[in-house]
Amino acid sequence: MEFVERYNGCGLLVSVKKKIAEAYGIQKVEIFETESFGKMLVIDGKVQVTEFDEPFYHEMLVHVPMNSCKNAKSVLIIGGGDGGALREVLKHDVEKVVLVEIDNNVIELCKKFLKIDAGAFDDSRVKVVIEDGRKFIEHCETFDVIIVDGTDPVGVSDPLFGRDFFEICNKKCGVFCSQSQSPLIQRQLFRKMIVNSTVIRNRTVFTSVVPTYPMAYWSFIIGGDFSFRYVRRNYRKIKGKTKHYNPEVHFSAFALPNWLKEEIRDAELRGN
Ligand code: SAM
Repeated sequence: MEFVERYNGCGLLVSVKKKIAEAYGIQKVEIFETESFGKMLVIDGKVQVTEFDEPFYHEMLVHVPMNSCKNAKSVLIIGGGDGGALREVLKHDVEKVVLVEIDNNVIELCKKFLKIDAGAFDDSRVKVVIEDGRKFIEHCETFDVIIVDGTDPVGVSDPLFGRDFFEICNKKCGVFCSQSQSPLIQRQLFRKMIVNSTVIRNRTVFTSVVPTYPMAYWSFIIGGDFSFRYVRRNYRKIKGKTKHYNPEVHFSAFALPNWLKEEIRDAELRGN
């Protein structure tokens, strides 16, 4: 059996042994056993997580912002129902983590069949809220770090890429980080993210390789009061190992190629 994800004239093909779980609610949630990438979470036909390369993504999404602040104690994760980002946040000396996930099916299936959370959902510091992150941000307290781990900016995730959402987040955290799609094959989505996120102070882009995401080159935005001065010290304090992330990867992630710098500059100039 083959799973195919198509995007803008190209795609990803994954040989699959079998489907091990599925649920249909506000999204179509499926979990597969693959030939080469371990278990794979698919939401509305798009690859979200594979056991093979999820650390490439979750470690960059979490440790770049967490190591960019002096001493983060309170963290908000919006999305992230697979538990990978939560697992990485708990490797830091945090006191409170709130995870706001719109679709409880994702959490239930991932806890039961994917298991990349490694027990993170049951940690006493964690509070899980089943709500739309766009609504939650309106009434929540402030956090040291806000991490947005949403699906593609279509459907239920769309409000997590809006200017109004970023304006509120900018006021509610010290450091903000979100995945921001593929600048290569999802140019319009990426440019929309760049334009809308100009309201976040010091908003900057970094990148990483994520082999099973569209064309394997992924972007993230970070903003707020982030600094490079704590990276090495905080890296040494991480509890447990990281498969992908280290300080050299952190620093080099901010070195952008000319075409990407131009894309960002052009989007900011044109406003679209
Ligand atoms: N790593 C993936 C990526 O970059 O595409 C994302 C993984 S994670 C499974 C995405 C999660 O965001 C899903 O569980 C989805 O239900 C959740 N989500 C989407 N829109 C949301 C919203 N408005 N509020 C809260 N969670 C949301």
